[in-house]
Amino acid sequence: MAVFNKILSKRKMENAIYDETVNAGHGWMRLIKKGQVFRIVDVKGNQAADTTFFRGEDPEDHYDAVVTIRNQNNIYLSTGTTLYSQDGIGLMKIIADTCGRHDTLGGSCSAQSNTVRYSRDIRHMHNCRDTFMLQLALNRDGYEYSKRDLNPNINFFMNVPVTPEGGLKFEDGVSAPGYYVEMEALTDTVVLISNCPQLNNPCNAYNPTPIRLLIWEE
Ligand SMILES: [Zn+2]
Repeated sequence: MAVFNKILSKRKMENAIYDETVNAGHGWMRLIKKGQVFRIVDVKGNQAADTTFFRGEDPEDHYDAVVTIRNQNNIYLSTGTTLYSQDGIGLMKIIADTCGRHDTLGGSCSAQSNTVRYSRDIRHMHNCRDTFMLQLALNRDGYEYSKRDLNPNINFFMNVPVTPEGGLKFEDGVSAPGYYVEMEALTDTVVLISNCPQLNNPCNAYNPTPIRLLIWEE
């Protein structure tokens, strides 16, 4: 039986310096300064927030799932997890989490993965990779982000259990309305999110819904 480590935050939403809702199918990209605290809320439950990170001082250095998994000896992300960059620098640390477990193995949906997993008919459906690419093109503030900067991401709130045989399963979510994950920036970090528009995967009960993003100064 999986162990879910649910830790509540003491921060109040009314004290946040930033509060925005992002609908399914939309993206978001923003710099979180060192020491600031960032929260993603799964407003209606069972949504997948595809997320990756770039180091503010050197955007060529991005979130790295392998370094993160190896450093904590666990494949699931939750409170206490430090999210590491490819160069081994801690970008974010998860400090509260009412969902209890997040995936970083399943990757994001794309035209290619939709074709392989579901059918060729849906290759033109909106997907997370398209949202990531659009956000990278819109946010070239001092750095020319391109598809080469994309990397295996985190799927916050998504349930991808690993079987005893090592298989990956995409299942109905373990999240619920209002569940959230909160993280502190250990260094200036650019956050890139695609709020997944996926209609073919049971992880969101075939019903993509909004996420809410909040930032606190500390
Ligand atoms: Zn997706």
